[in-house]
Amino acid sequence: MNIRFDGKRALVTGAGKGIGREIAVLLSQLGASVVAVSRTQADLDALRAEIACETIQADLSDAQAAQGAAEQAGAIDLLVNNAGIAIIEPFLEMSLHGLDETLAVNLRAAALIGQVVARGMVQRGKGGSIVNVSSQASMAALHGHAAYCASKSGLDHLTRVMALELGPHQIRVNAVNPTVILTPMGEKVWGDPEKAAPMLSRIPLGRFGKPHHVAHAVAYLLSDYADLIHGVTLPVDGGFLVG
Ligand code: NAP
Repeated sequence: MNIRFDGKRALVTGAGKGIGREIAVLLSQLGASVVAVSRTQADLDALRAEIACETIQADLSDAQAAQGAAEQAGAIDLLVNNAGIAIIEPFLEMSLHGLDETLAVNLRAAALIGQVVARGMVQRGKGGSIVNVSSQASMAALHGHAAYCASKSGLDHLTRVMALELGPHQIRVNAVNPTVILTPMGEKVWGDPEKAAPMLSRIPLGRFGKPHHVAHAVAYLLSDYADLIHGVTLPVDGGFLVG
């Protein structure tokens, strides 16, 4: 297999750090023209210095900003809705801010950006491919993750409805569902070895992931090698979800 995206324009959200940055770099290496969206301008500047991508600074928790970023990106063949946040609060103490912000970034922005991008794909009539970066937390309940789990379950089901409605336009839509990945977010939530140990013990392969594990799965799903794979939520989890 030799995945290439020459001549394709790829939009990656949350490309400033972690998994999104890894995906942006990989897609660029595979020949795509990357449009990187993220919140911190300095991250985008550093990425542009590395892969010569286009960059759009936006706070995707704002609905208009999310739609505006997608419109500014122009014609897109490959979309990765990766931007996400984790605000960890026990359910009984869950704040309105935590719930609203989590749903706005993890679910609403993906829906709005997906809508703008898919409208363009339909108009151009050449199909396309979309991958939403979900989580194992969409399928397994995790302490302190009520808002996060709900947002990712919503994203999984959004993926299925998008697949149902966009399939006839030859726009494939899939999700990946990673376990703990050692990124700034992963370190923030699972960096404490005492907290990490019970989670690690539930992963049959006995290790957390690295950003490239997710980036490789995303590249495959975006590529023509996954031409008949549509509407799936693919665990990238070392087997966590079998248990
Ligand atoms: P990360 O290290 O925190 O990086 C997230 C990136 O998204 C950052 O560049 C961040 O920019 C950007 N972002 C966040 N909120 C944004 C907003 N409102 N507007 C624009 N950009 C925003 O996170 P990660 O671990 O790479 O996670 C990426 C995706 O994977 C998320 O959807 C996450 O839920 C999912 N995931 C992660 C793990 C894990 O263990 N790490 C596991 C399963 C799923 P700023 O830093 O400038 O805010």
